Amino acid sequence: MKALRLYGKNDIRLVDIPVPEITEEEILLKTDAAAICGTDIRMWRNGAQGVDEEHPLTLGHELSGTVAKVGEKVPFYKEGMRLAMQPNIGCGLCDMCVNGKPHLCAEYKAFGINMDGAFAEYIRIPSKAIRQGNMMVLPKGVSPQEAAVTEPLSCAYNGFSKCSVRPGDFALVVGAGPIGVMHAKLLHMAGAVVFMNDLSEERLAACKQLMPYITVYHGGALQDFVREHTFGRGLDIAVTACPVPQVQASVLQLMAYGGRVLFFGGIPEDKQPVAVNTNLIHYKELYITGSTRSSIGQFRKVLEFVSQGIIEVKSIVTHTYSLDQVLEGFENAACAKGIKHVVVF
Ligand SMILES: [Zn+2]
Ligand SMILES: [Zn+2]
Repeated sequence: MKALRLYGKNDIRLVDIPVPEITEEEILLKTDAAAICGTDIRMWRNGAQGVDEEHPLTLGHELSGTVAKVGEKVPFYKEGMRLAMQPNIGCGLCDMCVNGKPHLCAEYKAFGINMDGAFAEYIRIPSKAIRQGNMMVLPKGVSPQEAAVTEPLSCAYNGFSKCSVRPGDFALVVGAGPIGVMHAKLLHMAGAVVFMNDLSEERLAACKQLMPYITVYHGGALQDFVREHTFGRGLDIAVTACPVPQVQASVLQLMAYGGRVLFFGGIPEDKQPVAVNTNLIHYKELYITGSTRSSIGQFRKVLEFVSQGIIEVKSIVTHTYSLDQVLEGFENAACAKGIKHVVVF
């Protein structure tokens, strides 16, 4: 079968490898859709720990597929079932796993991150993923592409859940990439007034087209814009969906009393620590939080949102490719063309 594999820094190749063998407790999934994520681009650019010429890794962690083969001892799943997949697999034993947060397990494994992923015709699903509920039957009407982008949506939802969003809240999302769009959609769903900011006018225009209900602001200095659009109150919610330290530092000045700030996008290690004015947190009684990945429960919740039409994700997919064209997809995603790029099988 064909697979897109990472061999090291700036080295991804579409290669032929054998279809994985499965044991009696495993499933062989035929990939239907796999979305390209910023994490894939970062791994391509920077390489990944333990990955080299002798130990390549098939990328892809945002996926859906059809069950092609089922091991004899596998419960519930049958050949031909179409599945969505939460890619993070915890150890199942630690406190984080037991508390429903396997994505924070110290021993966590994830498809396309530290085990073979979805830019391949077939994926081996280990028994742990089956037993811990990582796979969900696709609800009627949800397409494989929508199921694949449910994964990043679930990550945005994890962060959203920490922000106590209330109807009428003024919310700013900085970063007009796919993750920014997903945050904006969730905030709108909860009744917030949503602003989006980015340095790219083109991306903001694309966001405005997808979500006519948002107000966009292009440029750096947001003070006047926020004062005017919040009637002097400031922001109740700010989400940083970009890897820029200055953004984390500057949103604090824009907050209203009791505002909630979500640091969603990570900052490259060489740009840490980020200097912030902690008096703003103190005197405005701000809540600062962060989030990474998502739990299986959160994934199942947003899959419901998508199937019930509460959140529309179809339009987020602006580009599709065959697996043969996946390198072109990576190039386009890397230079921030369109919003979301998905390989369809
Ligand atoms: Zn991702
Ligand atoms: Zn664990």
